[in-house]
Amino acid sequence: MSQIPAARSQDLAPCRTCGRRFAQDVLLRHDPICRKVFNKKRKPFSSMEQRLQGTEIMTVRKQHPQKKQPEKKSNWRQHHEDFINAIRSAKQVTKALKEGRPLPPPPPPSINPDYIQCPHCSRRFNEAAAERHMKFCEEQAARRAFAAKTTRPVGKKLVTQRKPPAAAALPHRKRAQEGSQYR
Ligand SMILES: [Zn+2]
Ligand SMILES: [Zn+2]
Repeated sequence: MSQIPAARSQDLAPCRTCGRRFAQDVLLRHDPICRKVFNKKRKPFSSMEQRLQGTEIMTVRKQHPQKKQPEKKSNWRQHHEDFINAIRSAKQVTKALKEGRPLPPPPPPSINPDYIQCPHCSRRFNEAAAERHMKFCEEQAARRAFAAKTTRPVGKKLVTQRKPPAAAALPHRKRAQEGSQYR
């Protein structure tokens, strides 16, 4: 990717594989390596990647393309932690029941990388819940956007949007609606 000074470009020959230009002696070394790399890159990419892309399009859709899901990595560690936490809290509940003490509070929801973040409210849900929630949340967001639009007369289409429609809605109204989303 390093740029070649224009003055020397006449001494350079293009690589037949990648099209970059190199000095003759460099090209001799580069050519076999480049072809090897190029062949590797042309291998069909994994179906896992395809599936990930598919779900991302399904769940995030056109809403906030910049808010991407975190990479799915070290899932086993997260699952293990969740598992341990679940057992621990279950034991505490059993113990509290035996001793007649008030039940301990439920464990804080861990940030599970498997969970899908709602693009509207940034809360995270498992796959099944996310599907239901986001449909609902999207409606709420659209309603807020619609309300913001109708309360403020707009003569022509706004070219520059300073704030997303949801954020432009009345704050107290927004909070009240969000509160009702907890189930
Ligand atoms: Zn090359
Ligand atoms: Zn939401």
